[in-house]
Amino acid sequence: MKTDVIVVGGGLGGLTCARDLARAGTDVVVVEARSRVGGRVEGMKFDDGRVLQMGGEIVGTVHHGYLELAAELGLTIVPSYTDEPGMYGYDMLEGAHLGEDWLTEADLASFARLDEELLKIAATVDPADPWSHPDAARLDRLSVGALIRSLDPTWMAYRLFEAGALSAAHGTLERGSVLAWARAAAGVGGVLNTDYSQWENLKVQGGSSVLVDTLEAELAGRIRFNAPVASIHVGAPCTVTLISGEVLQADAVVCALPVGPLRRVGITGLSTARLQSLHRQRQALASKAVTVFDEPVWRRVGWNGLAVSEHQIGGFWIQGESALSSLLGPEKRGYIDAAPPGTLTQSLLESLERLCGGPVDAKAVLWRHWGTDPYTLGYVALWEPGDLTAVGPLHGTHEPPFYVAGSDHWSAGYMEGAVRTGRDAARAILGQPRPSLYVES
Ligand SMILES: Cc1cc2nc3c(=O)[nH]c(=O)nc-3n(C[C@H](O)[C@H](O)[C@H](O)COP(=O)(O)OP(=O)(O)OC[C@H]3O[C@@H](n4cnc5c(N)ncnc54)[C@H](O)[C@@H]3O)c2cc1C
Repeated sequence: MKTDVIVVGGGLGGLTCARDLARAGTDVVVVEARSRVGGRVEGMKFDDGRVLQMGGEIVGTVHHGYLELAAELGLTIVPSYTDEPGMYGYDMLEGAHLGEDWLTEADLASFARLDEELLKIAATVDPADPWSHPDAARLDRLSVGALIRSLDPTWMAYRLFEAGALSAAHGTLERGSVLAWARAAAGVGGVLNTDYSQWENLKVQGGSSVLVDTLEAELAGRIRFNAPVASIHVGAPCTVTLISGEVLQADAVVCALPVGPLRRVGITGLSTARLQSLHRQRQALASKAVTVFDEPVWRRVGWNGLAVSEHQIGGFWIQGESALSSLLGPEKRGYIDAAPPGTLTQSLLESLERLCGGPVDAKAVLWRHWGTDPYTLGYVALWEPGDLTAVGPLHGTHEPPFYVAGSDHWSAGYMEGAVRTGRDAARAILGQPRPSLYVES
């Protein structure tokens, strides 16, 4: 079988790319390992019929690529959890708090100082080329933790910074490169991804899986399901060999795999430098939990459903009228492996009880362990100190007839990255003008 283009991986990046190609009249096929598309965007039907988002869920006003695509698909965008009134939750080791009364003026001032410092650095970083920054090597080696300590924060502020990083499932502050954090902010016009009011204030009505369902419907007949790819050869023609042994041919290949599974696919015909760059990237290994209730229990105590936690579960945010989402990140991976069955869920419920000041009657706690799923092996891109330098300027670029798409090829991961890179790969193949991946539209 021969087509113009084979897109390997039917996540948001691959589907977005394939849609643009198909609409331009290209003969394109998407080859997907699983029996479903969407990858890290997954809607799961609960007993009572509601669809819960087990992966990517929320976007923000700075995510122009995603919002533009949603509008093209005729989808409605609605406010997310940031619209919920109430107090922020802090599930600290000594006990839980709602609101900021227990923090000092000095603690609060420490937060503002870090944001200011990171934004100051972000203003000097070109997100398309952070490597050319005059101080790139030092800023990439510098951990966010070291930067915060240099600003002389209070002890409690430092603990909260750390809890916040772990709640986002990115790893500790020592695992974050300052240059990478600054690049992520610069990539959306100078807004830190800790600014939830701009990064996380919106979602697709019905859940993010609705967008994937809509793309899938548009690509009907062009998707090969249950077709894990074993190897790719880049040449004329390109060949894609499935685990089953079947060989597909095309003039071009779009690799839209997360970086973990990508390392397991044999790739020949590419420059050594590109392969090294692709193989050098990493992801945070994370799990997600969704806790389902009959009613929004957080409202009983005036909690807005958003919390950081120093305990086993990272934190909470509202997914819907009666469901809370949580993340558990790479630093706690060992805890999952060591825990007897049920312990993780018990820890999560204990956190909730501390925040709600009493028993919470959860109908279910659903877990999705993305870090060990063979077709994801991660969560979002993780840039440890030194990683940006090691991956280098080939990041997010193409080597025709080999193209890349997917959130790992953008500065900060996320659904926005999947859409922007998917569209960029399609434009490159079609020979159309390509705005920078980081220019605001
Ligand atoms: C728990 C969790 C919460 C998240 N929350 C948010 C959020 O709220 N907002 C946000 O913007 N982003 C969020 N993200 C990130 C976002 O979901 C992803 O960045 C984005 O969906 C990735 O899309 P992608 O197409 O790059 O990769 P993927 O979605 O991972 O797609 C890759 C595809 O490749 C397939 N594949 C893998 N190996 C093979 C193979 N050998 N052969 C063929 N196919 C293969 C996979 O099955 C998959 O379908 C979250 C992610 C997770 C896991």
